[in-house]
Amino acid sequence: MRTRARKVGKEYVLNGEKMWITSGTIADVAVIWAKVEDEGDKVRGFLVETDRPGFKADDIHGKWSLRASVTSGLSLQDVRIPESNLLPGSGGLKSPLMCLNQARYGIAWGAVGAAMACYDCALQYALLRKQWRDQPIASHQLVQEKLTWMINEITKAQLLVLQVGRLKDAGKVQPQHISMAKRNNVWMALECARLSRDILGANGVADDYPIMRHLMNLESVKTYEGTHDIHTLIIGASVTGIEAF
Ligand SMILES: Cc1cc2nc3c(=O)[nH]c(=O)nc-3n(C[C@H](O)[C@H](O)[C@H](O)COP(=O)(O)OP(=O)(O)OC[C@H]3O[C@@H](n4cnc5c(N)ncnc54)[C@H](O)[C@@H]3O)c2cc1C
Repeated sequence: MRTRARKVGKEYVLNGEKMWITSGTIADVAVIWAKVEDEGDKVRGFLVETDRPGFKADDIHGKWSLRASVTSGLSLQDVRIPESNLLPGSGGLKSPLMCLNQARYGIAWGAVGAAMACYDCALQYALLRKQWRDQPIASHQLVQEKLTWMINEITKAQLLVLQVGRLKDAGKVQPQHISMAKRNNVWMALECARLSRDILGANGVADDYPIMRHLMNLESVKTYEGTHDIHTLIIGASVTGIEAF
């Protein structure tokens, strides 16, 4: 994190850049995490009204993924904000990580939804599409194996994130539990999207069906809110006690 905040009188002055920020050009307020110079580079959160002098946001164009959402680059050059815009409870990397934990948990459920949409589409298609000897492709063992894999993994993913939710409700959830759910469920959903695309044959690449949209969107979901590999390392650090970042 290179964005920095400097205390000047009763104000903070922010400098830095953020890339790949969802809704950056349409937001009225940005939540900016920055290292505070006078506090030993402690990470703190700031509310920044986007019409303040020195704040600039530009959209990132050409995404093949999550095309319905605006993604932007932010630039902050000597943006002055009152000290009251500091998030008072924030202090250290644990604060943004706490936000990420909430979002990652939600993503673990969302991925199940995307996988179910792909599975449902593939199942209906396989029952209707007739090929060799006028048999529905659902009657073939290899197609059934794909459908079985999907319903099996979807069910396991649901149970995993349900258990994480129970731990959360009981106040016992740990970051590695959330990493396991995000990592597994997004991977599982991507595999379901690929298998479903395959079952639809050429039609699988057409926008008449939702599968390619889910497939392309899930590629972003694999990367944001902690990449698949970083979640692997979080779990690895938890089980070995050794950080491999
Ligand atoms: C559509 C979209 C919307 C987004 N919205 C937001 C947003 O609103 N706010 C926000 O803050 N961010 C947002 N992001 C950014 C997202 O959080 C980052 O892209 C993500 O954290 C990965 O960072 P990076 O792109 O710099 O990849 P990198 O960090 O460069 O990673 C590239 C590859 O290297 C691997 N890698 C990196 N470091 C290590 C390591 N130490 N050990 C092993 N492997 C490593 C990664 O796992 C990955 O495979 C968004 C991204 C997308 C695609």
